[in-house]
Amino acid sequence: MKKIAILGAGYGGVQAAKQLHKLFKKEKDVEITLYDRNPFHTLMTELHEVAGGRCEPESVQVSLEKIFGGTTVSVVIDTIKDISFAKNTLNGVEATYKYDYLVLGPGAEPEYFGIKGAKENSFALWSYNDAVRLRHHIEAQFLKASREPNTMKRRKILTFTVAGAGFTGMEMLGELLEWKKPLCQRYGVDENDVSIVMVEAMTEILPILPKKLRENTMRFLARKGAILHLNTPITEVRTDGITVKGGSAIDTETLIWTCGVRGPEFASKLDFTGGKDSGKPAATEEETNLKFNIVKKARLRSNEFMQSVEFDNVYLVGDVLWFSEKNRILPQVVETALQTAECAAHNIYSDVHSKPKKAFRSNYHGFLVSVGSKFAVAHVMGMLLTGFMAMAMKHLVNLHYLWEVAGVNACWEYLQHHFFTVKDGRSQVGNQLAAKMPSYWMLPIRVGLGLMWLGEAVAKVFEGWLNADKGTSSAWMFSPGVVQPGVDPDSLAGATEVVAKKEIHDLLGFMAQPILPKDLFLVQWMQWFMDNVLSLVPYMLLQVPVVFLEGLVGLALLGGTFTWIGAIASLALSVNFLFAGTLTWNSAWMLFASVALLGGAGKVLGLDAWIMPWLQRWWNRTLFAKRTYWYLGDARKRK
Ligand code: NAD
Repeated sequence: MKKIAILGAGYGGVQAAKQLHKLFKKEKDVEITLYDRNPFHTLMTELHEVAGGRCEPESVQVSLEKIFGGTTVSVVIDTIKDISFAKNTLNGVEATYKYDYLVLGPGAEPEYFGIKGAKENSFALWSYNDAVRLRHHIEAQFLKASREPNTMKRRKILTFTVAGAGFTGMEMLGELLEWKKPLCQRYGVDENDVSIVMVEAMTEILPILPKKLRENTMRFLARKGAILHLNTPITEVRTDGITVKGGSAIDTETLIWTCGVRGPEFASKLDFTGGKDSGKPAATEEETNLKFNIVKKARLRSNEFMQSVEFDNVYLVGDVLWFSEKNRILPQVVETALQTAECAAHNIYSDVHSKPKKAFRSNYHGFLVSVGSKFAVAHVMGMLLTGFMAMAMKHLVNLHYLWEVAGVNACWEYLQHHFFTVKDGRSQVGNQLAAKMPSYWMLPIRVGLGLMWLGEAVAKVFEGWLNADKGTSSAWMFSPGVVQPGVDPDSLAGATEVVAKKEIHDLLGFMAQPILPKDLFLVQWMQWFMDNVLSLVPYMLLQVPVVFLEGLVGLALLGGTFTWIGAIASLALSVNFLFAGTLTWNSAWMLFASVALLGGAGKVLGLDAWIMPWLQRWWNRTLFAKRTYWYLGDARKRK
């Protein structure tokens, strides 16, 4: 039995586990285990949305149970304190775990550069806990300010400062600028008392991006009232303010520290010789560079196969690794994590099967930075995008990632969090998709539609549904232009035909005409199908199930029982009658009402209030749901 351990369920760890599952799924003697202290994968690139009150905290969590429920990967929730490379064990709080291969992806931590008070007196934005803590603090500051009568003190409470104009800082700044107004309204605070400040050591914001995008962002920030201090390195951080180079101070009770990242403390303590300082001074510039980044920044060196330079069976992925590709150190971004993980998984598979390993080749697509929910800039595949298109691109990239990680369920949840459940219009399309209507307003429609279908079934029975000559002549709903049961104006023959038809149609008016004209290709095709195919089926075998189905749909809708299925059947029957050329404008509402009932209309005064939660739990436990990610709602509720 070969044991492959993956430490860390970040972008690198999750990708490695998924790839290893794909490669080894048919091999019974390989055990893949993912270790993390959290039972969820955190969408780190969206933390600012939680911290800035745009999305709920669960929007950045993807449960590991959901991701790996239908795979061969086991998930162990434990905090790994140390690794013994000689014994090949992970030493956790709960137990010690053996491995033959290890994929190490412990991520990164904020870098404080030894600046006095920075770590103790600031808010980081590099974990789920950081985001939730910051969100609560910001709200608490508004509450505190609303109770503060002194204007100077209130303004200090309401000064929110972001340190560092890199990607993390810029995304956080954008959320603050957007959250300001709703918070002021909620807490009765004057918007003029709030200051959103950014302090950056360099002369430019977002230095990695092309000049045009930087300028567009600067203009947007100016429009939104951000206060920018460029060329202003922070030298000290206190609980009530910061000092910058030159000695001047900014009063603030909220400093959000986004000045870069380093390898985690955990990695710096590992028994890697390359991760420890030999004490000897560096001889060359390259050595100095290496020493600084490996020792000070706690990053671990890998070779081109993503293997640690010291231990052949240890592979490094994501932010922790230090690898120079064509004299360029891999950047600490999501794409690095995903690509190094893929390479590591492939090479572990090759090692197990004694095949040649493949060297790492990066393939970066670019950068996307959002500044609030409606503005973004993107430099992707050589294209420069600003505003709506860049934002749309960011959503597409996120959806693509989520599709790979946890399929349709994760994408649906993303759309819910970013469009359907947003507050204060904080989505790319404002409130357009977010307004909710309580299900009880659906009750009359559900009962009305249910009565129509039941009435149709009952009418057919009483009109002689088992009589082949009369069976299709139900006058009540689906026979356009019929004045009395069994009399169809289109069937009138003889010299007066045209006049008679016209008169009867005029008499009945527009609303009683079929929606689709008889000469439409689809209607003609349907007619052909009925005449040549359906006519071969014995009449009873068609009419009886259809009438039963209509009755069942009616009862399901009336009782609010399996309403979703009832609404789908109602839609299918209506569409069928539409193409059969028998659905009139009078009954067109049934098509639209069927769609309206798809969203849980049976849960008000209906049995679905009990049936659906039970059904959801049962379904989410099936292997099919686990393997395909076609979970119903929150997969975590499946136990
Ligand atoms: P960063 O290194 O990209 O930016 C940090 C900024 O802080 C720099 O501009 C730096 O000049 C400034 N700074 C440093 N010390 C300072 C001081 N004392 N006073 C004032 N300013 C100071 O860091 P980040 O934004 O935290 O990002 C970390 C990593 O994560 C980066 O590699 C980044 O590319 C990646 N990331 C990517 C995205 C994205 O692609 N959308 C989003 C977030 C983070």
